Amino acid sequence: MRKALVIGNWKMNGQQVLNKSLVEQIKTGVANELLGRIDVGVCPPAVYAQSVIEQLSGVDIVVGAQNMSEHDSGAFTGEVSAVMLKDIGCGLVILGHSERRALFAETNVAVAAKVKAALAAGLMPVVCVGETLEQREAGKAADVVREQLDQGLAGVDASELSKVVIAYEPVWAIGTGLTASPEQAQEIHHLLRKALEAKSAAVAANVRLLYGGSVNAANAEALFAQPDIDGGLIGGASLKAEDFIAICRAA
Ligand code: 13P
Repeated sequence: MRKALVIGNWKMNGQQVLNKSLVEQIKTGVANELLGRIDVGVCPPAVYAQSVIEQLSGVDIVVGAQNMSEHDSGAFTGEVSAVMLKDIGCGLVILGHSERRALFAETNVAVAAKVKAALAAGLMPVVCVGETLEQREAGKAADVVREQLDQGLAGVDASELSKVVIAYEPVWAIGTGLTASPEQAQEIHHLLRKALEAKSAAVAANVRLLYGGSVNAANAEALFAQPDIDGGLIGGASLKAEDFIAICRAA
C-alpha cells in the first residue's frame, strides 16, 4: 500500500516571521495521528530551508528544496547542490517544475541529470511532468508527459525508482483555479504508472504519483480518492495553514 504524501511548494513566497507562524500552525495541525498515516513535506525558498528544518526538529515533516544544481560543487555561481541540501537536513527536492521549464529553460536532459544527483546525495526527487493547455487541446497530453517521464528518468534503474516521486501538474491548472477533474488526472496518473512498469512492474506499484494544480481544501478529497493519485503537490493553498492542513486530512 502506498503511503499518501502531501508536499507544500511555497514557490518564491514567505519571509522569516511569516514562515515561523505558518510552520508552527502546520506542525500543530498535522501532528501525531495524521503524520502516522501520511507523509508531509514543505518546500520553502532555499534560503529559509535551514530555519524551517530547525523549527521542525523532532517532527516528522520533511523539508525540501524547489530546485537544485546537477553538480556537487564548483564554479556555478548562484547554484545550490544536492549535497548541500542534504547537508543541512533536506529530505526531498522538487525537480523539473513547469515554472523552471518555462521560465528557466530547464530541459528533460537537465532534469535527468538532477534526478541522478539527488538520488546520489540521498534526496527524494519529486519529478514534475505536465502538459500545457495548447498541448492538451492538440491531443498531445499523454505523449508530452510520457516523454517528460521517460527522458527525466533516463538512467534511473528499478532499484532507484522506488525512491522517486512523480508529480503530474498540468500547466493550465497551476495557479489558475482550474483543476483537472479527478477523472482527467486519474487518466494521466494511470498512464504514468503503466509507463513506470516498463522499468519494473513491482516497483511501479509502489511509486507515489502526486497531483498538482489548484488543489484546495474543497477539491482535494475527490482527487485523492482516485486509485492512482497518492497525494498532492500544493502551491497557493500551502501558504495558508488551514487549507494545507485540510488538504493533508483529505489524503
Ligand atoms: P497551485 O496549487 O498554486 O496551482 O500550484 C501548483 C504547483 O505548481 C505546485 O508545485
